Amino acid sequence: MLKILVVDDAIFMRSMIRDIFARGPFVIAGEAENGVQAVRLYQDLRPDLTTMDIVMPQMDGISALREIIRIDPAAKVVMCSALGQEALIAEAIEAGARDFIVKPFQPGRVLKVVQSVLGLDERLQPLVPPTHSGDAR
Ligand SMILES: [Mg+2]
Repeated sequence: MLKILVVDDAIFMRSMIRDIFARGPFVIAGEAENGVQAVRLYQDLRPDLTTMDIVMPQMDGISALREIIRIDPAAKVVMCSALGQEALIAEAIEAGARDFIVKPFQPGRVLKVVQSVLGLDERLQPLVPPTHSGDAR
């Protein structure tokens, strides 16, 4: 199982991400609600992948990302951003984030990013069943 660390100050966001990772070879190793907790948990848990919110109290996601990369330059951190945070995303990628996902999260897109960052076999896709929207195109 691949260990995931979920970092977001909003509890509903964390539970949404938890649900997305309920499919596939993942286990939620820990959850943090600010950057300080995130860095501490990263050190303890050494997750295979971390999802990192950007705007959080105490220590924001980009500062936490920098700390984590300092501890483990190979850390795989995916940023969680809101629309309109392109500049922050660019800063995070420069600081070592592997990729980003945009809120509101689409499970398929999140898993695609995660699989690509973790180098998982494409055959694992799709982990999310197709939605039957009636759009057959
Ligand atoms: Mg936030």
